[in-house]
Amino acid sequence: MEKRIAENIERFRSELPEEVQLIAVSKTKPNEAVMEAYRAGHRVFGENRVQELVEKYEALPKDIAWHMIGHVQSNKIKYFAPFVNLVHGMDKPKRLKELNKEAEKCGRVIDCLIQVHIAKEESKFGFDYEEAFALLEQKPAERYPHLRICGLMGMATNTNEEHIVREEFAGLKRFFDKVKQAFDLPHFDVLSMGMSNDYQIAIEEGSTMVRIGSSIFGSRQ
Ligand SMILES: *Cc1c(COP(=O)(O)O)cnc(C)c1O
Repeated sequence: MEKRIAENIERFRSELPEEVQLIAVSKTKPNEAVMEAYRAGHRVFGENRVQELVEKYEALPKDIAWHMIGHVQSNKIKYFAPFVNLVHGMDKPKRLKELNKEAEKCGRVIDCLIQVHIAKEESKFGFDYEEAFALLEQKPAERYPHLRICGLMGMATNTNEEHIVREEFAGLKRFFDKVKQAFDLPHFDVLSMGMSNDYQIAIEEGSTMVRIGSSIFGSRQ
């Protein structure tokens, strides 16, 4: 098992284009699994639950960059604001306001991504395109001085119909390019899209950051 984690890290490292960053999604997996990837040289991990993120941060080496990739509850932001490296799931103005406030309390500027709802499933989170555009239009750097909006995150529909997934990713990439052209956002260069089942399509459609869990650590319960 552990040996396979290191092998998988190596495999992704050689397979992914240089401009695509790999986030190893370690949610539900034990610290030892994270350490196996760490010993293979990997330093960037993603978690989707605050308590697990904080526990792993406290127990594991401090040169790990922790990404919060899950749905963010405003009242829990304070627990990860002191150390988080990138927050992927900014899905409401209220959330940005709260993260900005907690970042200010810690004396930090926190990097985050605007999550856009691109899937068919209603259950997934995120701004729709119009809302995201409006937010980015309203001088976010002035409204949220303790945040640095570094790009967009999206999750495609969970389906085997490749054309659906591809069109959703392509749509997000078009929106990303449009935003970059329309506004002066100097740090806006991350497009976080793609998971174990769809990362190849995501990369073909312009992803710069993939979030891979089960293809590195094995399936979850
Ligand atoms: C769990 C999760 C992933 C990784 O999923 P896999 O299918 O295991 O690669 C990626 N992104 C988010 C937001 C997740 O919650």
